[in-house]
Amino acid sequence: MSEPSAWLMTLRTPKGTLVTIATTRREDVQNAERSGRLVTCEAVCKESMLAAATLRAEAAEAERDRLAAAVERVRALHHNRMRGAYECAECRNDYPCPTLRALEGTP
Ligand SMILES: [Zn+2]
Repeated sequence: MSEPSAWLMTLRTPKGTLVTIATTRREDVQNAERSGRLVTCEAVCKESMLAAATLRAEAAEAERDRLAAAVERVRALHHNRMRGAYECAECRNDYPCPTLRALEGTP
């Protein structure tokens, strides 16, 4: 293998969690080694790093869309029905109900 053009490093943060970082700078790897936080380091070519980043971005978009659809399903359940007063059709609380307010982030 020729000189690697990028590295994937797994580092341990001060709180003990592991994070994976991609870098194209050798000094980042050296600094991580010196800090004692380097857990693993894998040399990769930029193309495979880009491919992995694309896969991660696509997975994140799919997860975002899945969560947005779930929120919409909940919002549709907790709709307003008029019965002389504003009332949630699902949980029968005053409208907007606590579930809707939680979705909106309003108190
Ligand atoms: Zn409700």
